[in-house]
Amino acid sequence: MINITLKDNVVKEFTPGTTVEQIAAALGAGLHKAACCGRLNGEVVDLRTPIHADAALEICTFADDDGKKTYRHTASHILAQAVKRLYPNAKLAIGPAIENGFYYDFDVEKPFTPEDLEKIEAEMKKITKENVPIDQFSLPVDKALELMRDEPYKRELIQEHAGKGEDISFYKQGEWVDLCVGPHLMSTGGVKAFKLLSATGAYWRGDEKNKMLCRVYATAFPKAAELEAYLNMLEESKKRDHRKLGKELELFAILEEGPGFPFFLPKGMILKNLLIEYWREIHKKAGYEEISTPIMLNRALWEQSGHWDHYKNNMYTTVIDEQDFSIKPMNCPGGMLVYKTRMRSYKDLPLRMGELGLVHRHEMSGALHGLMRVRCFTQDDAHIFMTKDQIKDEIKGVVRLIDEVYSTFGFSYHIELSTQPEDSMGSKEDWDAATGALRDAITELGYDFVVNEGDGAFYGPKLDFHLTDCLGRTWQCGTVQLDFQMPERFELEYTGSDNAKHRPIMIHRVAFGSIERFIGILIEHFAGAFPMWLASTQVIVIPIGDRQLDYANMVTEKLEENGMRVKVDARNEKVGFKIREGQLEKAPYMLVIGDKEIEGGQVAVRSHKDGDQGVMKLENFVSRALEEINARAF
Ligand SMILES: [Zn+2]
Ligand SMILES: [Zn+2]
Repeated sequence: MINITLKDNVVKEFTPGTTVEQIAAALGAGLHKAACCGRLNGEVVDLRTPIHADAALEICTFADDDGKKTYRHTASHILAQAVKRLYPNAKLAIGPAIENGFYYDFDVEKPFTPEDLEKIEAEMKKITKENVPIDQFSLPVDKALELMRDEPYKRELIQEHAGKGEDISFYKQGEWVDLCVGPHLMSTGGVKAFKLLSATGAYWRGDEKNKMLCRVYATAFPKAAELEAYLNMLEESKKRDHRKLGKELELFAILEEGPGFPFFLPKGMILKNLLIEYWREIHKKAGYEEISTPIMLNRALWEQSGHWDHYKNNMYTTVIDEQDFSIKPMNCPGGMLVYKTRMRSYKDLPLRMGELGLVHRHEMSGALHGLMRVRCFTQDDAHIFMTKDQIKDEIKGVVRLIDEVYSTFGFSYHIELSTQPEDSMGSKEDWDAATGALRDAITELGYDFVVNEGDGAFYGPKLDFHLTDCLGRTWQCGTVQLDFQMPERFELEYTGSDNAKHRPIMIHRVAFGSIERFIGILIEHFAGAFPMWLASTQVIVIPIGDRQLDYANMVTEKLEENGMRVKVDARNEKVGFKIREGQLEKAPYMLVIGDKEIEGGQVAVRSHKDGDQGVMKLENFVSRALEEINARAF
């Protein structure tokens, strides 16, 4: 018998050769039905995998990332099978699971139309109803090439693999076979709810020198209700698309003359400056000093930092006085130079230096996406220089600060800890101490966290903050990165209490990440209806007619005296029309002024979020609005 260690360290005996699927079945009918794949001693395996020796086994369901991938990759096979049934001449490329779904690339004469997608989806439903068993088999390279004689893309993939001396793995369902290493569900009936979302062009292997294929994007879920919820979320995110709202609300523009280099329009600039003001306020409170380092520095510096050798492809370079220069892709090297402008003593540490640094990084034009993926952005960076025994407290401080930032906008978040990769700098001892400090800091603050083993940068472990917006989408924004390498490379020093020279340890950290991207996230999170403290126009005053204009101007003045951003809509239009337009502009409040309001020194208040608030004294509105602004309520 073999001992299988299962969830919660429960050990069970099985006969050698028992498969992952059989073990799932032995554990219960519910788990058997939900099982998508296994993790055997940490490695993802197919349900069909027989186990011959003692091992640790997890059964992965759709709730698990690997399970999700298996489920959706199986759905991608069903998509390809359906396409082959309807379009026998289509050539198959690849069809992986991706975040939130899957795709398959086809070489077809005409790209699929929405009507085609409907037909394909109907055929997929048939295939899942047929509940055909899915089987795995392997062939030597020559037989594999023979089997795929009509599939040029598959042959190319097989040929690439040919030198490895391994057999080629296939999965078969009914009449259809695909080159595939799996894993897969046991039968096509395992896939319950799916939807084809779109068909777009995509080059074979992402290379524009290759043929343009037709990529079908789709998603799949175990339950129809989950699919429904996801499709609603997609619909809602389309409405909230920051590129669309950014244009409608006149916040920013991205023009042909500067692909990936956003322009901020007056209203967007108000928003950006408010975020920066807020950032300065909380950093000052947390004991940070602010610096600013040049946007362009010479090649020698980038060589010293290692960027010239390892990051040059993403850097914009130029020549000044016959010397190579680079526009900074990161603020760190400049920060190092500031540290070195004077002697540092242990009494100066920890030294927290913040910088709102404008960095430029080259991105492929195809990867650019509104404010979310740009070529230049403002990092809300900071570098903290400290002694070894200050690490934990400093990390706690940073985590508290990031928590404050996200809570201010109503984001929830989770933390991921990335540990030492195989190829890394620094001693094992340093790594253990640093990773331990990160772990202890967040544990002591009461956080649960996900560990990404081996996912740290080569120069140190890190914490990533993934925030969740109101549609349940996650965005990686904040990071806290420990670094042993940079102080070494730049020979940073401080004088210890023993009067000897020591090397500080440093933290790189961001809270917003990129201010531009954070603005993109905020636009979508709030659907453009920003909280009072962030709105570029906070109040629109609407006089019913000319007669009320003087009073409206007086109201406006009073609000402006209190620091509010106000506008009067004095146009000769009907009140209903002005209110509808104000609603589209998403100002938090509209104040409607008629004769009655003038008599009582009042305003009729309409909130964007909560509708009609009735009539109130002007002073009461002012104090209520100020309260809302000062609390940064959302
Ligand atoms: Zn496959
Ligand atoms: Zn840095």
